[in-house]
Amino acid sequence: MIFETHAHYDDEAFDEDRDMLLSVMQENGIEYIVNVGANLKSTAASIALAQKYPFIYAAAGVHPSDTEDLDEESFLWLKEQCLLEKVVAVGEIGLDYYWDNVERSVQKFWFERQLDLAREMKKPVIIHSRDAAKDTFDIMAAKNAGEIGGVVHCYSYSPEMALDYVKMGFYIGIGGVVTFQNGKKMKEVVEAVPMECLLLETDSPYLSPVPNRGKRNTSLNLPYVAQKIAEIKGISYDEVIAITADNAKKMYKI
Ligand SMILES: [Zn+2]
Repeated sequence: MIFETHAHYDDEAFDEDRDMLLSVMQENGIEYIVNVGANLKSTAASIALAQKYPFIYAAAGVHPSDTEDLDEESFLWLKEQCLLEKVVAVGEIGLDYYWDNVERSVQKFWFERQLDLAREMKKPVIIHSRDAAKDTFDIMAAKNAGEIGGVVHCYSYSPEMALDYVKMGFYIGIGGVVTFQNGKKMKEVVEAVPMECLLLETDSPYLSPVPNRGKRNTSLNLPYVAQKIAEIKGISYDEVIAITADNAKKMYKI
């Protein structure tokens, strides 16, 4: 059974058929889903989904592009959410210099604070990093993030850096990009990283794999990602599903 480590079912893209879609996940082989918060509102929505569906868990966190949401009061609220039983991670947190809509100093400040929060709460972190490879790695190294653990989600940097994260004790999240024609770098990453350090994720509703590229993504597309990993690694589809699910359970402590 597949473990979906990163989705956003609170997104308005699912407003029309959210419950119908989630109700068929398990019969289609999706055993667990972690719905990831990206700001205060989506953290609350993720927790609500986790409370409604036994197989859904939540991550509480604020994405770098939404860090202007945060102040001491809302940070305290975020901390309280981490005490809830079904909140299994702090995320997604990190740096985003692609959108670059929030001052880098502000992004860094709240990235560090949320890393501290995860350490205090003994939860793994879900890292979002886009066009910010060096700063992300430097902050995590300085914070001894290896002791916190977690995943670099939707990993988009070099195979060499992926191995540096693995050495640090992190998992690498693999999604639809690995199936893209131009996803050569991602294939090299999958080649380089040991199976024991890979996780399956969609980032739904985004980044739908081939043959559904461009359409709304759902966890039901994860078999395409798993199949591609199986091809690259030269192992069976079933092995990919089993190993990545074990990895996810270990990381999220489920
Ligand atoms: Zn995400």
